[in-house]
Formats: sequence, structure tokens, C-alpha cells
Amino acid sequence: MMSEQMYNNRSGDPSEKLRNLKITSLDEEEDEDGDAPMVDDVYDDEEEEEEDKEPISLGFVEKPKHSWSLSRELFPSLAGGAPAWLDPINLPAGRSCHCDFCGQPLQFLLQVYAPLLHKESTFHRTLFVFICPSMSCLLKDQHDQWKKQPEKASRSVKVFRCQLPRFNSFYSSEPPRHDGSDRPSRNGAVLCSWCGTWRGDKVCGSCRRVHYCSEKHQTAHWRSGHKTECQRSSIAPVASASTSTSLSAETQKVASNHLWPQFEIVNEDECEAHKSENDGLDKSLISQNQMDEVKSLLDTFEVDGDKRTWASFQERISRDPEQVLRYYRLAKTKPLWPMSSGRPSKMDIPRCSYCGGSPACEFQVLPQLLYYFGVENNADSLDWATIVVYTCEASCQDSIVYKEEFAWVQLSSQSATTMR
Ligand SMILES: [Zn+2]
Ligand SMILES: [Zn+2]
Ligand SMILES: [Zn+2]
Ligand SMILES: [Zn+2]
Repeated sequence: MMSEQMYNNRSGDPSEKLRNLKITSLDEEEDEDGDAPMVDDVYDDEEEEEEDKEPISLGFVEKPKHSWSLSRELFPSLAGGAPAWLDPINLPAGRSCHCDFCGQPLQFLLQVYAPLLHKESTFHRTLFVFICPSMSCLLKDQHDQWKKQPEKASRSVKVFRCQLPRFNSFYSSEPPRHDGSDRPSRNGAVLCSWCGTWRGDKVCGSCRRVHYCSEKHQTAHWRSGHKTECQRSSIAPVASASTSTSLSAETQKVASNHLWPQFEIVNEDECEAHKSENDGLDKSLISQNQMDEVKSLLDTFEVDGDKRTWASFQERISRDPEQVLRYYRLAKTKPLWPMSSGRPSKMDIPRCSYCGGSPACEFQVLPQLLYYFGVENNADSLDWATIVVYTCEASCQDSIVYKEEFAWVQLSSQSATTMR
């Protein structure tokens, strides 16, 4: 059994942040293999384990307590807004930052701080998930995720893994104090003034004060008001030419109003969360009526595999209806699939493209996150049933700082959407 240090505990106690969590597998009783005929070697069926012993860790969103709560030197887990890059200099670049279908820069979805303390190289370790907010891109992504090497899959969902040893040039080797006085050891790269996400390597040619990751974001900023600001600031004397090196450049306000609202992700064990959270009922995304429906559906013998899997998925989720993330690190852990069809087989999850090692299921993102993001529930709105993130089991070290990992996306099938 491996012990993992994970992201911030829900209690908010900073000392809790460093507590060791044991993360083990979740047993999936409803593993009806007969329902997915084309899935021969489904990942979940690898190992028969006895009943649940260890709880898995659930992620919940909370409004950050302080303006500095989600700063990168505090190693946060967070969703929405702009990422808190772990290595703030050697950011992903080029094709990695864009949706392979529409070419737009990807939008930041969430990051999970998940260090592995048994290795020096993974003392700090954060996984970052980006997605194109266009549902039509995600529908295309669905087709491409089945592609196998050497075919090049086009994706609208991308995952990066970044890790640092305890002694590094960006942060103190001592744990943060969480009192607002923590500072990073050095500045990060200049980021895009529009999205605050990607490197701002391009500069506005006329005022030379704002930076962009892409022409698309330059255009977006220009149209949304920089056109007037730019003229004003090019008339005014330039106060300081050092904006690109000051720390304020890093923390400057992001101009885009299209980013999702930012939340801290805090964690709680699955059963613990269930016992202590009675208030969750009011904010439940699934009404009692719907739950009764789900339960009666479970009892019905003549439902198809997807409906039955969906019902048991909903039943499991409804124990902690506010969860947005389920964290599993150990290789033998099974994700909770909403649908029995469209699950990947072992062959569908590529090996690590850096070390060739086997992949491990690390966590899954639930659609509840979209509810907190205020994404509408229209036909064209972004929606998924689950996003399962697989990472290199060995969490290998490589000269590439942000290593691309793999996400499997399952969309809600027609049968499932009618139940929402
Ligand atoms: Zn796209
Ligand atoms: Zn940008
Ligand atoms: Zn300008
Ligand atoms: Zn690897």
C-alpha cells in the first residue's frame, strides 16, 4: 500500500494538507461485462478484489478563503479561472495548448496537486486538465480518442503532468505557512493578458504593454475594449518598462470574461463525506424523486446495460452529490463508468509516451463541475458524463517539463440524458 500526500483537506486545516492519504481501489460490484460486446479486455476487469476496505478520495469545490489561497506557492488543487502553474517557466507550448479541431487555445478546467512522496522527483506533482469549451469539438474528440498508435489522435481535452523535487529553484523547500506571507522564489513567465493561462510570447505592437498567447486572444482582447485602452496608454508616458519582469505581471487581472469561475478543490474520503454532510441534501443535484426513479430502475430487470450502469453510477454519486472529482491513484483502481458502452479497453489507453510504461487511472472528473461553472444545460453546451485521467504509473521523469497524459471522455448517451 502506497501512501499519498494529496490536495487540501476539506477541513481547511493547513496541517491536514500534509497528512498522508491512503488511496485504494473502489470495488465495482455492477460489472456487467456482457453489456459491452466489443469491449473485450476492459480495464476494470483486471483484478478481482474483495469488498471495499479503503475509501476513495472525493473532490469538492469551495470558494477560496483568501485572495492568495490559490497562489502557486501554496500548491493548490483548483478548478476554473487560470491555472497555478507548478513550473511557472517551462509551460506547454505549440500544438499542446490548442484544440486540435478548432485551433483555439484550450481553456483551463482544473488541476490536482497529487505528490508521490516515495520518490524525490515527485515531491511536488500537479496534473492539469484543459478542454475546448466547444461541444462540437468534444463530439469530434469522442471519435478520435479511439485511435491507436501510430495514428495521431486529435483531441479537445489535454492533460499535463508536472513534477518538481523538494529542492528546486521555484519554491522554498519548507512547507508553506498559509498565512498570506508565502512567496514563490522567483517569477514565472509572462502570461497571456487575455486568458492568463498560456505564455504571452506575443506583445501588442502599439502599446507594448499587453501580452498574448495567440492572435486569437489578441483579437478577442482588442474587440472587448483594448482598442480604446491601447490608444490611451500609448499617449500616457510609460511608467515602467519592467512590467514583464515584475511579479505583478504574473498576478495581473485576466481580461477574458469567458473563463469559468475559480474554485478551490478540497478533498474528503468518500464514506466520511457521506456521514458528515447532511446539508448536502439541499444542494443535491439529484432530487429525491429522481433518486427513487433511479432505485426503481435498478430493480427493474428489463433495463439495458447502459441504463443499469447509469443507475448504479447515479446511486453511488448520490451518496455525495456535490462531488466533482474522484481520485484513485493505484494502478488497480477502477473508475466509476456512467455507461457500460464506450468504456475503453486496456488497448485503448496508450502507454506513457515518454517511458513506455503502463498507464494508471488517476482520477475522474464528474459533470457536476459544469453546474458550479454555470454552464447551461442546452443541446450545444459543453457536457460530459465523465472524464477519466490516466497517467504514467511510474510518474516518470523526463526533460519535458509538462508531460502530456491521457484522458478518456465518456459522453452521456441518449438513454442517460433523458434521466437527468
Ligand atoms: Zn475546439
Ligand atoms: Zn491567451
Ligand atoms: Zn495595446
Ligand atoms: Zn512514463
